[in-house]
Amino acid sequence: MKQCALITGASRGIGKAISEKLSIDLGLHILINYISNEPAARETLESIQSNGGSAELVQFDVSDSEEVANTMDQWFKSNPEDQITVLVNNAGITRDNLMVFMSEGDFNHVVQTSLNGMFNVSKSVLTHMVRKRYGRIINMASISGLKGMAGQVNYSAAKGGVIAATKALAREVAKRNITVNAVAPGFIESEMTDEVDPELVKNLVPMRRMGTTEEVAQLVKFLASKDASYITGEVINISGGII
Ligand code: NAP
Repeated sequence: MKQCALITGASRGIGKAISEKLSIDLGLHILINYISNEPAARETLESIQSNGGSAELVQFDVSDSEEVANTMDQWFKSNPEDQITVLVNNAGITRDNLMVFMSEGDFNHVVQTSLNGMFNVSKSVLTHMVRKRYGRIINMASISGLKGMAGQVNYSAAKGGVIAATKALAREVAKRNITVNAVAPGFIESEMTDEVDPELVKNLVPMRRMGTTEEVAQLVKFLASKDASYITGEVINISGGII
């Protein structure tokens, strides 16, 4: 029986670093989810395998409830002995603009990816976790979801929703020994933040630098581990001091 972690958006950036960390440090078999960048997803797979870990690719669009349900149902049928002990809802996108210029499509796309995505994927593994009476769910939120960020009404709404849903779900499943927590990064080096002005970072971040994907992965690893057994419904900032 394999102990598995499903990481959404694991082909690049923060999700890739989390996948590598949970494989090496916790010895979990990793389900690497991505939407379209298969070459990048294969790089995550090869990196895990070259370090002696095991993983597989699981492609789906987190915002498509039917696709998520069908793919995961099929996975459970093909792997009846295996247990998904950890779910990291990490997939997310930005479509920044001032609200007066923001299209309804860009608002919906961002919310459907982060917030509906979290709902769709959590729902697809929750019954399994409840049956096993064990689970660790970690949702990738953002400082934007706590403070609100100009130019990010869509993203702030999505991440604020993720934070509220984290707290509600934590209450629902605590008695089943399933913890649900959120991580709220500030500015982290990845393709998502390629265009962030370094001057802005110096002005906004007390530590005067961006965080690394490795630093976020360390925090997620702790929340995903057995050591974090009495922490649930929390939002932990990882932002170099932005509060
Ligand atoms: P990234 O480098 O842009 O990577 C995004 C990942 O999400 C990719 O693996 C992408 O897959 C996947 N993805 C996007 N839409 C998807 C969908 N509909 N279904 C499945 N997978 C999808 O982003 P990142 O910086 O690592 O961010 C990861 C998470 O952290 C996001 O939720 C983001 O909002 C959050 N976050 C990031 C920062 C930051 O500063 N970077 C700060 C706060 C919060 P493909 O490769 O197939 O496109």
